[in-house]
Amino acid sequence: MNRYTTIVIIFIVLFFITKGNAQEEKPVKVVLITLDGLRWQELYTGADSLLIENKAYVHDITSLKSDFWRSEAKDRREALMPFFWKNVTKIGQLHGNRNVGSKVDLTNTMWFSYPGYNEILTGVADDKNITSNSKVNNPNKTVLEIINNHPEYKGKVAAFGSWDVFPYIINEDRSGVPVNAGFEVLKGKGLSSREVFLNLLQDQVPSPWSSVRFDAFTHHYALEHMKKNHPELVYIAYGETDDFAHDGNYEAYLKAAHNTDNLIKELWEFTQQDYFYKDNTVFIISTDHGRGTDPLDTWKSHGKNIKNAGQVWLVAFGKGINVLGEVSNNEQLFSNQIAATVAKILGIEYPIEKAGKPIDVIVLPEK
Ligand SMILES: [Zn+2]
Repeated sequence: MNRYTTIVIIFIVLFFITKGNAQEEKPVKVVLITLDGLRWQELYTGADSLLIENKAYVHDITSLKSDFWRSEAKDRREALMPFFWKNVTKIGQLHGNRNVGSKVDLTNTMWFSYPGYNEILTGVADDKNITSNSKVNNPNKTVLEIINNHPEYKGKVAAFGSWDVFPYIINEDRSGVPVNAGFEVLKGKGLSSREVFLNLLQDQVPSPWSSVRFDAFTHHYALEHMKKNHPELVYIAYGETDDFAHDGNYEAYLKAAHNTDNLIKELWEFTQQDYFYKDNTVFIISTDHGRGTDPLDTWKSHGKNIKNAGQVWLVAFGKGINVLGEVSNNEQLFSNQIAATVAKILGIEYPIEKAGKPIDVIVLPEK
């Protein structure tokens, strides 16, 4: 072998080594999810003993107790949200169980939906401008908008919500992020047969609420979009838990939490058998606000006059996330850190100076 051949071989070997590494370092994808107004109390301790037996809030106590009542909190939460407690504990981190010292709080002082979503998505509480749930375009840029307008991610972001205010929160017009929310029918060429059927069903299954659709629609529109378009960052905002709670229907609130747990399981399982997402996707899940506990009937409500409704929770799992399970160290996280955390996972330094900083325990490399 002469010197020339040796050099050529070295170059070929180097080329394949570099190529191999480049493939391994494909950017991580992020699925950001919110469950509207699901209390940390139910996530961490399952069904509430005072509410599940209360005739004012539960129609069929016997049947609901057989589904979700267990004497130990650990068993109750697993009955309520089996994917979180059987699977997520083995692949990620669950923050916000105040009974064991982990706290997650809103920094906005409004404690209702638009301010909560604005804080999660932009990284900055804006108590001056975001003071109602009105359909007003958000003056602030969300992480979805910032990522969507980054040269590497142009057109690779999408959002789906059950509540019809999301196109305004995300400022669909300005951000260019496609948002399917409320009772919006999916339009466009090349709809899959499932999407056509979803459009039909959405029209034929009346929602109990005027501004929120059932989460199954939001979920399957999102899932079909992920299969077809493979967004690098997708936001899915489930809504049923909050609306059933406002209705004072604890039975439906628990069933909605249980159902959403299963929808998230389905999403995760999809990503783990899809070539684009498999072993390279992080899920971040949180809520826009808490609800009351005392007096008892404040569980239905939230807002600044409801004690402790600013207490929330945060869950992360997937590629590169340290497996900590239920976090029981004393810690204090804030919802305004979520936007910068999402950006950091996607490899982008979040450019909004006032935003909360990325959450170290989530973004530091796996140990
Ligand atoms: Zn609400």
